[in-house]
Amino acid sequence: MAGFRQLLRNTPEGLYCPPGDFHIDPVRPVARAVITHGHSDHARSGHGAVLATPQTLAIMAARYGADFAAATEAAPYGQRVTRNEVDVTLVPAGHVLGSAQAVLRWKGITAVISGDYKRRRDPTCPLFEPVACNLFVSEATFGLPVFRFPDAADEVAKLLKSVALFPERTHLVGAYALGKAQRIICLLREAGYSKTLYMHGAMGSMNALYQANGVELGSLAPATDEKRNALPGEIVIAPP
Ligand SMILES: [Zn+2]
Repeated sequence: MAGFRQLLRNTPEGLYCPPGDFHIDPVRPVARAVITHGHSDHARSGHGAVLATPQTLAIMAARYGADFAAATEAAPYGQRVTRNEVDVTLVPAGHVLGSAQAVLRWKGITAVISGDYKRRRDPTCPLFEPVACNLFVSEATFGLPVFRFPDAADEVAKLLKSVALFPERTHLVGAYALGKAQRIICLLREAGYSKTLYMHGAMGSMNALYQANGVELGSLAPATDEKRNALPGEIVIAPP
């Protein structure tokens, strides 16, 4: 069996696959990139050719403009794409819309580059899909045991309890525009909250993209009034 170090190598641009001649989530512009998901620390503009899920390509176009790369190729989940000697398959990572693990198969080795992932259920994207592999390259942003995340439904229940207790107040929830905001919206809907949710202006294009991809977000409106507490009894979602 060939060696892991022949398949993957660290370079100043980021993780590089020599036999496939592509980088994964490179931090600088490269000729050929595989992008795991649309967050800006993974998806950057200026690459030659980008391979990603259709949803990730749409997110990049919405954020950077249609000319974010010289060429793009959409690989839906599970579709095998060949790059020189390497087969690349993108499978769900459970992180945000379109997020994928990159599964590389070469000379009997299967390597999985996780990208950001989570194994909990998320109503806005398909569940993390485990893939049997010889090498797993894992993101571990919250990997330390000190991070203990409470149950999401319990947190939403706390928020709704507070909204009911303090109807004269506006409840402002901090959430990143791509992923977290839509997850909170969906969790609120699952908890039975059907009122209009008010959104910071930065959320609009990502919400529209999720809705275009079949994620039901319910009634949304821009939170345009700058007066403090201008929306008593309402929930406002804004970047932290
Ligand atoms: Zn991410």
